[in-house]
Amino acid sequence: MDNHRAMEMIGYDASWADHGLDVSEVFGPVYQGEGPFAGRRCHFIRLMRCNLSCSWCDTPFTWDASRFDLHAESTEMTPLAIADQVADASLVVISGGEPLMWQNRHAFVELIDLIPGAVHVETNGTIHPSGLPIDHYVVSPKVNDQGDPLKKRIKFEALRSFAALADQGRASIKIVVRDADEVHRAADLMDGLQWPHESRWVMPEGTSATALLAHAAAIEEAALTRGLNLSLRQHVLLHGDQRGY
Ligand code: SF4
Repeated sequence: MDNHRAMEMIGYDASWADHGLDVSEVFGPVYQGEGPFAGRRCHFIRLMRCNLSCSWCDTPFTWDASRFDLHAESTEMTPLAIADQVADASLVVISGGEPLMWQNRHAFVELIDLIPGAVHVETNGTIHPSGLPIDHYVVSPKVNDQGDPLKKRIKFEALRSFAALADQGRASIKIVVRDADEVHRAADLMDGLQWPHESRWVMPEGTSATALLAHAAAIEEAALTRGLNLSLRQHVLLHGDQRGY
């Protein structure tokens, strides 16, 4: 898509035209560890900031100023500098934090335009997707109560927009759960959204193999009963919570 047309479509914020993106890390090649594309060779771009504050977050260094020096954690990079680091990638995953907090910035639009391969975005589903040519969104609304209030973490209008993209094969839903009760909450939400069955996923929470497998065992039966796909987190099984995987 022509860059200027894309910027017009999304109503980008011109006041940020001269700014780059605050990047936590760019890494790869690695294997996508979770969700519908687990096992795919890819590169990751992790952006700073999040609009939620989940207590079990595995990337708090992108947003939690009470525990991390966010200035030290962040590097402002131009779209060209970021794109250079993923120039050979056939698949680039943009994650966070919440990467859609950046979607209306000139630099984000330009970055999407510069990436030659497929682009996937991992999002918490609270921000309405713009019209950018993202190949696939993996949407992870939060169903457990250990974090933000319900009205902040579940935004039905935004989720319905992602469900419409799912009807076109451009989005999947992947909800982190720890027990059978959370599996049922996740499935109820997916039912309410009329999300296509083939792209419904749950994934056990855990940043160690021990915690991950314990939660997986706790959710397996309920997930099967509710007709959900189950994703583990293979990067956690192989590397624990090390950064860069
Ligand atoms: S939405 Fe994701 S990045 Fe943000 S706090 Fe929750 S788990 Fe962390």
